[in-house]
Amino acid sequence: MPAGTFAVSTSKTMQFSDITAQVQKAVATCGIADGVCHVYNPHTTAGLTINEGADPAVQTDILAALQKIVPMNHAYQHLEGNSPAHVMASLVGSSVTIFIENGCLLLGTWQKIFFCEFDGPRSRKVFWRVV
Ligand code: ZN
Repeated sequence: MPAGTFAVSTSKTMQFSDITAQVQKAVATCGIADGVCHVYNPHTTAGLTINEGADPAVQTDILAALQKIVPMNHAYQHLEGNSPAHVMASLVGSSVTIFIENGCLLLGTWQKIFFCEFDGPRSRKVFWRVV
């Protein structure tokens, strides 16, 4: 079962990083033309999502909405001080699944796969597995 890891470096506290090309590269080199690609983020203050990649304002709007939903100033008990990032990571989720057809990710026209940083900047990693 083909599987692997790739690195994602983030440069801001909160940002979306388009990882579609890395996932497509993994799929293209794994030798499976038709199947399912699982992408998994092993970090507790980051997430993965699929959404519009054509207009960067969509990413900005999602981050702004998450910051509105999750209060920065709240009586959080977690002593590390990054509870909002943990909450956002749970809201977004830690994995995505994409169908593969003829060696290509079966994404919608406007869809991209995003690594969602909520507690950066950091060096992160992403796991993928094709079945
Ligand atoms: Zn923490």
